[in-house]
Amino acid sequence: MMIIKSFSGYITPKAYANNYPTFQSNALKPERDTEVRIKEAPSFADINMLGKCNLNCFFCVGKELEKIARQKGKNINLDSNMGKHFSQWQNFEEFLAITKKQNIKKLYLTGSNTDPSTYKYLHELIEYLKESGFVVGIRTNGYFDLTKQSEILKSLNGTVSYSLQSLNPETNKKITGVAKIPDWDNIIPNSGDNVRATIVVNRYNVGEIYDMIKYLSKFDNIKYIQLRSIYAETADFKLKYAKDIQAFKNLSEDITKKFEYVKSFKNCPIYRINGKEVVLWDLGTNTINANNYYTDGSFHQNYYVVAGYTSNLGAEKSPKA
Ligand code: SF4
Repeated sequence: MMIIKSFSGYITPKAYANNYPTFQSNALKPERDTEVRIKEAPSFADINMLGKCNLNCFFCVGKELEKIARQKGKNINLDSNMGKHFSQWQNFEEFLAITKKQNIKKLYLTGSNTDPSTYKYLHELIEYLKESGFVVGIRTNGYFDLTKQSEILKSLNGTVSYSLQSLNPETNKKITGVAKIPDWDNIIPNSGDNVRATIVVNRYNVGEIYDMIKYLSKFDNIKYIQLRSIYAETADFKLKYAKDIQAFKNLSEDITKKFEYVKSFKNCPIYRINGKEVVLWDLGTNTINANNYYTDGSFHQNYYVVAGYTSNLGAEKSPKA
């Protein structure tokens, strides 16, 4: 029988699905030194690809994941299964079945330490997920130009989310290790009707955010701009990224003073800037929750990537029913 490790140990997918409220209440417990926050039942699910990225962002949570996994004797890149067809991914069908049982329709193809657009069977995977009844979106950094793979873009029935960190090559290099900026003028208008942009506010780009919003506002198909705080889910991260956390706070205060408040989404305020809805997505205070699957077969139900993933470490090594 297939087994899946969850917060409370190893369980069968059926038991997990039947006892969802129990596991959900376990999910409310703060894990490690993650901030205590009210979490809702998962409203979407992420398929997290593992492997090598085409960028090297200084704040990449995937690198933290790699480090923590290594300390536990696991190499997430060796176990990434990125070269394998998804039919061979461990626990994948069970993850989909549980997600379906929870009436979650929205799935995102995303990456923890890589970009999902580099997955060899991406098109087939999207088609398969759609046939299974899901609405499939993607989060990508734009460096693997999906507009050159139009069959992939056309097959998506969910949001195309681009993460961009700067429009200035010098700043971009400081943040991502790469000076070259994707050809957004061509990529964004050719990415369908449902596009969103995400910017991780940090010490290097904080002075450029308003110009970036202005630039993005010229694209009619951008429905939403997300300004994210850095992924500082533990005390260590908070220390390491103190300057970036402060940059997000300063910018948030400035936006609050200067722009029209529209509404709140999952406890995060949305403002209108240059005609676009811009959310201040604070990872410490939002209430969203998600199911997370990793291509090494791990599965957890925690929006916080590191806390959730590490709660599953060792799952493949010592399963017990
Ligand atoms: S693009 Fe994403 S996965 Fe790649 S290095 Fe940057 S944060 Fe990490």
